[in-house]
Amino acid sequence: MVQAIRGFKDILPGETERWLALESSARDLFAAYGYAEIRPPILESTEVFSRSIGETTDIVEKEMYTFQDRSNRSVTLRPEGTASVVRACVEHHQFQTLPLKLYYLGPMFRHERPQAGRLRQFHQIGVEAMGVEDAGMDIEVLALLRDLFERFGLRDLELQVSSLGCSICRPAYRERLLGFLRPQISALCPDCQGRLERNPLRTLDCKREACREATQDAPRILDSLCEACRSHFAEVREGLDTLRIPYVVNPRIVRGLDYYMRTAFELVTDCLGAQNAVAAGGRYDGLVKDLGGPDIPGIGFALGMERVLALLKDRQPPAQVSPFFVAALGKVARREALLLIQALRNVGKPVEWDPAGGSLKSQLRKADRLGARQVVILGEEEIKTGRATLRDMAAKTQQSIPLSDLLTTLTTKSASHE
Ligand code: ATP
Ligand code: MG
Repeated sequence: MVQAIRGFKDILPGETERWLALESSARDLFAAYGYAEIRPPILESTEVFSRSIGETTDIVEKEMYTFQDRSNRSVTLRPEGTASVVRACVEHHQFQTLPLKLYYLGPMFRHERPQAGRLRQFHQIGVEAMGVEDAGMDIEVLALLRDLFERFGLRDLELQVSSLGCSICRPAYRERLLGFLRPQISALCPDCQGRLERNPLRTLDCKREACREATQDAPRILDSLCEACRSHFAEVREGLDTLRIPYVVNPRIVRGLDYYMRTAFELVTDCLGAQNAVAAGGRYDGLVKDLGGPDIPGIGFALGMERVLALLKDRQPPAQVSPFFVAALGKVARREALLLIQALRNVGKPVEWDPAGGSLKSQLRKADRLGARQVVILGEEEIKTGRATLRDMAAKTQQSIPLSDLLTTLTTKSASHE
């Protein structure tokens, strides 16, 4: 037997219903907020990610599915959505009317160690709002994030926000942090030691106990913000207060992607063990330009669908709609049955039948297994009298209905059955 690759999961019938429900409630809300869907390809030139996410990030250094295609071009399965979305918008000149508000959903690929809550193919729903530097855009995006989880029925997550500064204040902070960390480099984990000079901010985000301790009293980026970043962050917080969106300021938020600046945030839970981030995002004002576009700011977030679904696991699965079942015996009856099935399906009623035919007994057994509550029986006798038998499987009662009234009876009756 050939099996799926480790870290890649089949999503089977029974689960897909939950995925669809999640996707459609997200789509409804995005429409209300004026976000349109974009579907970039899953495979991109490697450059799209190395230039945007940053050469020294974990994603680019060790997590990407990168390979040479048959024409020796380096290509990568997208590890995240923002870079592809921005690449597509630049390529297709999408910046005519601003803000440009987009959402996407689909699979992402990262070569990480598979474990609970961490897959190699996982799925994200994300939004991007481009064209506005003002904190009003940040507030809208954070409100959208809050409302989205409200819709999902997940209210107990913690929103953590911070500011990462900008190209004016971050370099100075980076130096201050390096000055603090260098003397105690031997206390850091091997990963953080190795990348200290290249990416010292990552140490703040390291989950290892040693690094947590070593950075306990590290200088905080929030104390190093320039005036513009400070007032931007204050406005964001004011907006959250106005909308009564609860949050905590967590100055350790770093984000594993270099393009983030100013506002950064995560939605975390304590219900998923070590994998506590359910959604994350931030502002990326230099990214559009870095990818060859105009100098246009942006902000967005992405949520991990597997993690959202894991949080929803304990709740009720969506109610199953019980189908009608049409049991037909004999050639003429089967022809009549096909027409009826077609007509019901065309008005959106779920109907099942047994395409293999067989005895009435076996067809009724099948109806039972499928959870049908109403079975239409069409035998030779029924065809002869021009009436069908409608059987209620639970009550075990039957009634006889003229064939000409069948469709109307079934379509009106069904209302009370769904
Ligand atoms: P983490 O800290 O869990 O590694 P991240 O910072 O790498 O997360 P982002 O790149 O911000 O994650 O992606 C946004 C969301 O996508 C995460 O909050 C998480 O819910 C989900 N996610 C990221 N990587 C994975 C993965 N390997 N498997 C499942 N979900 C993931
Ligand atoms: Mg990660």
